[in-house]
Amino acid sequence: SLQDLRATGLLRDANLVAGDWIEADPETGIAVHNPADGSLIGYVPKLGRAEVAKAVKAAEEAQKTWAARTAKDRANVLRAWFDLMIAHREALAQILTLEQGKPLAEAAGEITYGASFVEWFAEEARRVYGETIPGHQPDKRILVMKQPIGVVAAITPWNFPNAMITRKAGPAFAAGCGMVLKPASQTPYSAIALAILAERAGLPKGLFSVITGSAAQIGAELTENPVVRKLTFTGSTEIGAMLYAQSAPTIKKLGLELGGNAPFIVFDDADLDAAVEGALIAKFRNNGQTCVCANRIYVQDAVYDAFSEKLAKAVSNLRTGNGMESGVELGPLIDESALEKVQSHVTDVVEKGGRVLAGGKPHALGGTFYEPTVLADVTSDMAVAREETFGPVAPLFRFTEEAEAIQAANDTEFGLASYFYAQDVARIFRVSEGLEYGMVGVNTGLISTAEAPFGGVKMSGLGREGSRHGIEDFLELKYVCLGGI
Ligand code: ADP
Repeated sequence: SLQDLRATGLLRDANLVAGDWIEADPETGIAVHNPADGSLIGYVPKLGRAEVAKAVKAAEEAQKTWAARTAKDRANVLRAWFDLMIAHREALAQILTLEQGKPLAEAAGEITYGASFVEWFAEEARRVYGETIPGHQPDKRILVMKQPIGVVAAITPWNFPNAMITRKAGPAFAAGCGMVLKPASQTPYSAIALAILAERAGLPKGLFSVITGSAAQIGAELTENPVVRKLTFTGSTEIGAMLYAQSAPTIKKLGLELGGNAPFIVFDDADLDAAVEGALIAKFRNNGQTCVCANRIYVQDAVYDAFSEKLAKAVSNLRTGNGMESGVELGPLIDESALEKVQSHVTDVVEKGGRVLAGGKPHALGGTFYEPTVLADVTSDMAVAREETFGPVAPLFRFTEEAEAIQAANDTEFGLASYFYAQDVARIFRVSEGLEYGMVGVNTGLISTAEAPFGGVKMSGLGREGSRHGIEDFLELKYVCLGGI
């Protein structure tokens, strides 16, 4: 229950600003609701520019001392943070499900996944190697140092309320940076819980602030403040582009993880059962609300009917409900407007001649629940071909030639994740090389992991998160020329 969760000390109606906790005032705070039943969870503070400026200043001071500590010392603090996240996995998962709606088992999976970035970057902290370069004159030596970029601003979305934070905070703190975070207003409690555990782990006072409030006001200060040297954002392409523009006058570095429109291609040499399993994961994980969710499923002629039949059957068996109930596989959508978008995409397909093979309407549970849906005979003139549905709808397009599938898959301004199923090795190389995407899943529907570089091309963003590359975005190169030797 809510009472039990509050007793853990991890569900707290407060922000951590410049090392001090600011409690929410229900009169002026932001109400946070459970998307499964609309019930009130609590209020979080509605803070603005002044608190952000204060947090940036505190992070600037704390960062200097933090960066001066040894990498191993920083790694130990991060390791303690990781251990606390794992030790409190159950409570963190419950908080996440309460505010976000995903099934509890999936939320627990997100906590493990989120914690893995803290663990990975704790390890990477000690491997930030510089260079020595042969000099260009006999009396000169060239050194390259890597130093933390300084204060980082982070703005994160509601679909992964834990992992989208750790994927940024892990490398930032490992590199020796400070961070001011603005989480999504729909899911602030997971972010606040992370701040509580960071404090317990011994992260220095002021190094990490978590601020909720008006996105526009907080965003304005984070982008205009010259002390902030990097902005890392995960969210919509629209807001990402706006923040990019807002950051131009102060020449900040940008890390952007934006929208996707992932193709999922099933070729005629694919293992169809494996492809169905992969499609279920790539499409229906988090109820279709991830930026790497399959948005367009292209199936080759010869296997189209067999694949659609198998997928429709598997999807009809998925259980939708309150994520707190055991056995539930799909939760609610995040809000009313998400439900409207999903319904409008389905209606558009049906009006233009597509067929509903499974689902196709709001769920009998009401609220923002929607039936897991499979649509056949979908064509490129329909809205689902161009826009991210962000819901449990699998639209099946038909194709004949391999080249046609690659061309259709690339026919979008986005370039985040892509997937395909095939057995032929030559085809696997041709298609992997032909897809204009930052990530390609071959014979798998699940690609995200701390070890690999996550990110997109085209309008899906800038930079990579995770892997050994993920820490580079938080470091600056300094060239030192030694003369007179
Ligand atoms: P989504 O569709 O996933 O909600 P958004 O891009 O709207 O994507 O939101 C992602 C994050 O960006 C959230 O934390 C949201 O509050 C924040 N955000 C939205 N508008 C702005 C803005 N004008 N300035 C700064 N941050 C914003």
